[in-house]
Amino acid sequence: MYNINNLLRENIKKLTPYSSARDEYQGEANVFLDANENAFGSPLAQQFNRYPDPLQYELKKRITEIKGVPPRNIFIGNGSDEAIDILFRSFCNPGVDNVILVPPTYGMYEVSANINDIEARKVLLTEDYQLNLEGIAEAIDERTKLIFICSPNNPTGNSINREDIETLLANFNGIVVVDEAYINFSRQKSFIQELTEYANLVVMQTLSKAWGLAGLRVGMAFASEEIIRVMNKVKPPYNVNESSQQLALEALANVAQVNNWIKETLTQRDRLVLALKEFDFVVDIYPSDANFILVKTTDANGIYDYLVSKGIIVRNRSKVELCEGSLRITVGTPEENTVLLDTLNNFGN
Ligand SMILES: *Cc1c(COP(=O)(O)O)cnc(C)c1O
Repeated sequence: MYNINNLLRENIKKLTPYSSARDEYQGEANVFLDANENAFGSPLAQQFNRYPDPLQYELKKRITEIKGVPPRNIFIGNGSDEAIDILFRSFCNPGVDNVILVPPTYGMYEVSANINDIEARKVLLTEDYQLNLEGIAEAIDERTKLIFICSPNNPTGNSINREDIETLLANFNGIVVVDEAYINFSRQKSFIQELTEYANLVVMQTLSKAWGLAGLRVGMAFASEEIIRVMNKVKPPYNVNESSQQLALEALANVAQVNNWIKETLTQRDRLVLALKEFDFVVDIYPSDANFILVKTTDANGIYDYLVSKGIIVRNRSKVELCEGSLRITVGTPEENTVLLDTLNNFGN
């Protein structure tokens, strides 16, 4: 049976969180002499002399409107990368516990595991980039705290079968993290709808991809109230800075603009797939639910170096197990994609 108390680290269970100056009073006030800020202001047109809201309430209210998830089920981090790290620090005892990763997948899960001295047990995806459920079942033991599933998956681009993820959620006593960084480009439903069904589910999304805000560093985790409470306790008090909170809020008013970009990205993705198929050096293009495609080639290093020499950077994934010979190509603007295709036309000439 899943029970958060069997998963939490003892030091985190006992932790008294940092209490910020603004947490300690109730009621209205207009003279703030409690946080050692500069009361005169900032040497900027916009004022940043006050500490930001530690729980990002305005931003969460807006995310609630968009996602239909109440603020008590939302964690906001300095990118999803912070949410990943906080899950490790909350649930995994260094040198003792382990997590399950299913490569080829997003590299930060393993880096974060290594930083936190947590064993990462790897169960390769199958040849068609789906979960090896038997392998995962064998790898799980009583010290397994987290399983990371990225869907749509980076770098393969495909979505992971929904029933397989539900099988894990229903049978694993630890926490299943479903990273949906690319969900806006997918026809699949988000797992956010399943939050009421599974207490051990964490869904991660980000403003870094479809929302075009990678530079602001705003990532979200959606989960049960008890998991979110722990994450808020463990995070640095002011983990999302004031300008990121304000600009993210402003950006979240522009849903229509973002939806247009998503549509255009999908059109351009189809165009790239059709055009790339025609090249002799392209062996296979994997079906993508994301804003990139994984392209298997006869000469990944040669094409990569050639593109670099022409000022075009793609991601060389050819050393990654199950991605041999493959390049990951992000869908660009129509103009950028034209440059890419024209340049590839001259490869080998
Ligand atoms: C890009 C990406 C993220 C985004 O991370 P941020 O820290 O929010 O920028 C998360 N997960 C995956 C799988 C990604 O590819």
